Amino acid sequence: MGKFTDKLINAPIALTFGDVVLLPSRSDVEPREVDLTTNITVNIKANIPIVSSPMDTVTEAEMAIALARLGGLGVIHRNCSREEQVELVKQVKKAPVLPVKYIYIKASSTVEEAHKMLLKLNIEALPVVDSNGLFLGYFKHNSAIRADDKDLVARYAVKGEVIKREELLKVSKTNPKDSLAIIDNDGKYWGIIDNGSCNNYSPLIDDKGRLRVGAAISPYDLNRAKMLEKWVDVLVVDVAHFHNLNCIKAAKKLLREISVDIVVGNIGTYEACEDILTMLENVAGLRVGIASGSICSTGIVTGVAAPTLFAVANVRDALEDYGALHIPIIADGGIKSPGDAAKALAAGASAIMLGRALAGTDEASSPLIPIGSRLYKLYRGMGSKSALAKRYSADRYSPPSKKIAEGVEGLVPYRGPVANVIEEFRAGLQAALGYVGARNIRELWVKAKFARLTSIGLKEVHPHDLLMSL
Ligand code: 5GP
Repeated sequence: MGKFTDKLINAPIALTFGDVVLLPSRSDVEPREVDLTTNITVNIKANIPIVSSPMDTVTEAEMAIALARLGGLGVIHRNCSREEQVELVKQVKKAPVLPVKYIYIKASSTVEEAHKMLLKLNIEALPVVDSNGLFLGYFKHNSAIRADDKDLVARYAVKGEVIKREELLKVSKTNPKDSLAIIDNDGKYWGIIDNGSCNNYSPLIDDKGRLRVGAAISPYDLNRAKMLEKWVDVLVVDVAHFHNLNCIKAAKKLLREISVDIVVGNIGTYEACEDILTMLENVAGLRVGIASGSICSTGIVTGVAAPTLFAVANVRDALEDYGALHIPIIADGGIKSPGDAAKALAAGASAIMLGRALAGTDEASSPLIPIGSRLYKLYRGMGSKSALAKRYSADRYSPPSKKIAEGVEGLVPYRGPVANVIEEFRAGLQAALGYVGARNIRELWVKAKFARLTSIGLKEVHPHDLLMSL
């Protein structure tokens, strides 16, 4: 047998999510006891191991705010000008750490209008706000019993308990009344706590009490990185093939000149990780997986891929061999379900990056598209023709050398609020760790055992032999 034949026949098997299952083990862990906190970067510990893809149909401010409130991290895409991206990041930093409802009545409204509003909103007290945005007090049904309907509400605004913006988190844990006004240090009104959904929140916040956020950058765009540096918690290098000596050289400069955490990627092999560890310093995380993304056509167009599960295991081995386990892996691409997420973490990742799984949600930065009686959202690869037409992220696929699209676009079913999807992943991961007998992700790395499936097995471990029309 010649060496070419040998190379073919002895090629490693690039196992991917559908090829394996996690084996159940003896367990004394109840899913609700499982702790999903994890390091997303060397310096950022998140409450859930979930990061959103920096794609222009997934992550702008709304997604990043929602995810950080739920304990994960949004990475703002870079398919826009530097100024626009900085603005999106600032919006996250300025957002309240918990959802607030911006409900109030203008001081110049009438008592009659205020009564109607209280009834309509079904709340106890209505914050009264003057024309400068200052909080004047609360209007309540019983505070204006003798008032004339046409009187101004300002006259009947009574002082009451308020909270400062910074105290939002503390107060939310004690189940506040729905009409507790939030004000800033200048007395400006911010809204009232949306206590209906507080229980699910465990926000990821920085040391100034603001939501954390990441932003994607090209390794070649030091200016953008410098503009973002003041605002972001982490910069995520966003190229399809980081194991390219020009990229590594450019990243070296970034890592020297930028002080926030920098995650590099994407990579897919042991050797790529080895080169990063030997050629770069201060890398804060690795984005791992090549060509597994749901909108990715790299595998077809080029024949090249390092499927996410296989890539994670390879990179993890390199981290272990080089004693660099403090550097977290973010598994990126092809994660469709909590089960895939559990496999990615079990293979050595610290967190997962989601594109398609979040693309159908309200907070994803793409339009809602009704077709017949169903709703969809647009989802496109950052290397798709239409995304490349915007140019800003074209160097993800290193033009001008490449002239071919490596991504596609399509519609995904509308899925409602992102909180629902995150809850599904959280609960699924907790259940998975319960089966394995792991109390946290570190224990999962040690205890997880994989078994390979046949194509018949793959069919059997999915819902089958039902009419799935319900
Ligand atoms: P998904 O969660 O949809 O399966 O994968 C999302 C990931 O696909 C992104 O985080 C990114 O790494 C990758 N990706 C995004 N756009 C493109 C593209 O146009 N081509 C390729 N090859 N990968 C893409």
